[in-house]
Amino acid sequence: MKKIVVAIDGFSSCGKSTMAKDLAKQIGYVYIDSGSMYRATTLFALQKGFFVNNQLDVDALEESMSDIRISFRYNPETGKPDTYLNDEKVEDAIRSMEVAGKVSEIASLKFVRQAMVQLQQAMGHEKGIVMDGRDIGTVVFPDAELKVFVTARADVRANRRLKELREKGDNHTTFDEVLANVVQRDEIDQNRTESPLRKAEDALLLDNSDITIDEQRNQLLQMFHQAINK
Ligand code: C5P
Repeated sequence: MKKIVVAIDGFSSCGKSTMAKDLAKQIGYVYIDSGSMYRATTLFALQKGFFVNNQLDVDALEESMSDIRISFRYNPETGKPDTYLNDEKVEDAIRSMEVAGKVSEIASLKFVRQAMVQLQQAMGHEKGIVMDGRDIGTVVFPDAELKVFVTARADVRANRRLKELREKGDNHTTFDEVLANVVQRDEIDQNRTESPLRKAEDALLLDNSDITIDEQRNQLLQMFHQAINK
């Protein structure tokens, strides 16, 4: 059967990764979370001390870009790929609020985006992938056979992210803090000069505020079968 590229874009915390991962598993494709690559770059900048008084030393990061190696390794225990930064597993560290608060700034830098897009395109060279992010259908794979743009109301998304944080043992972050982070990231992602978040004209819209995971799974599978039979 022919292999295609599935590009899933949308707002923060609307369950893109979960649905993309689930789809990839069902159809036997490789799943790639492009957001984790921007998060790993952010973690690198934090670890190197490139943020001084909350101010990023952009030049220092640019000079160190060649020292950043991001890869994914399948974790048989979770059935999902883990993100590695220079051979260190960073899957949990990149999901912290500290990284979440800085990632959109890092992702708005042109040299960061160029490096990540190049890596992403290489990963999708042989097709058979599901990649999720913000610019996958518009910039990374403008010719993707299936493009889906996912959205959900901001309060619904904040609640989902809060639940995730609680499950990871974070008992102090409040709903309002998470909501503020979601709204702030939407704002930066949509208004940045470099590859702003927008729906590709040929992307199919999926609003999952009020549908169940099963309904979403079925809608997505239907979209996939239509795309593959085109
Ligand atoms: O998807 P996730 O929330 O993990 O992405 C983290 C951040 O990385 C987003 O808020 C966005 O600023 C950035 N991002 C991006 N382009 C992508 C994926 C993520 O700019 N393709």
